[in-house]
Amino acid sequence: SSLSEEDGYFASYTHHDIHMTMLKDKVRTESYRDFMLKNPQLFEGKTMLDVGCGTGILSMFAVQAGASQVVAVDQSNIIYQAMDIARENGMHEKITFVKGRLEDVELPIQKFDIIVSEWMGYFLLFEAMLDSVLWARDRYLTPGGCVYPDHFSMKVVGMSDPELRKSKLEFWDDVYGFKMSCMKSSVSDEVNVRLVKDDLIITEPSVIKDLDVMQCTVSELDFTCEFSLKCKADGEITALVGYFDTDFIRGCTTKVNFSTGPEATPTHWEQAVMMLPTPVTVQKGKLRLC
Ligand code: SAH
Repeated sequence: SSLSEEDGYFASYTHHDIHMTMLKDKVRTESYRDFMLKNPQLFEGKTMLDVGCGTGILSMFAVQAGASQVVAVDQSNIIYQAMDIARENGMHEKITFVKGRLEDVELPIQKFDIIVSEWMGYFLLFEAMLDSVLWARDRYLTPGGCVYPDHFSMKVVGMSDPELRKSKLEFWDDVYGFKMSCMKSSVSDEVNVRLVKDDLIITEPSVIKDLDVMQCTVSELDFTCEFSLKCKADGEITALVGYFDTDFIRGCTTKVNFSTGPEATPTHWEQAVMMLPTPVTVQKGKLRLC
């Protein structure tokens, strides 16, 4: 029994930790807040569905912005805390919490003026929950309503970081005295989530995907594309760096956006570093097709 108690302890610790990480990410959380509080015309007297409410933070911003009724759904036990939090802030009459997987539960309202969700994963789509948001859009959005954020751009830039490359590869040459060189070939198969220093970026960004949340389909999310990178300096591209920009646009009198790119204030998404199998030598001003 002491083991299961411990498991429970660590599970809840991890739990709180994840939510604290997201809430402490001011770029993320303040963008959602700014979008809602600076566009009250979208919220006043309106109904909102919060897909994956977590601690209920986005639902509470919506009530502050004037929403008349909010339904907040989450499958995780964090929703029990969200219920207490809403009560603690006197918002429990405006927010109805529903525990369960969105696709499985029954909601007290059948059509919503607005759907809001913070569903984004690393490099936007890695382990993300956009499928559920699109399902909610098709099932619950009223004609003329909107899902927010409503637009995303996935971008790629070229990085020159020979040191990182060396450290990732050379490690396998001597592991406690053993050679593990076969491990080197998989270094370019894996994505490393880390913060990239802006001064290592030697190309302009290239948009590999523009995502209109109101139009897009699940099948469209499985895509390949060609892109070219315009080089800002002579050098050697050792890795591609992926990130995304988020926009709140439709119907906004004050548009809000944030970037998770290397030039922007760091967020908990950091950047997705994809090591190239072999570095590519480039020249300033030239285009390089990938
Ligand atoms: N909105 C909160 C939490 C975002 S994290 C905030 O901005 O801080 C995403 C949340 O969505 C998690 O708590 C997860 O449990 C929940 N979630 C993911 N997929 C879901 C689904 N299909 N149905 C219900 N909840 C889901």
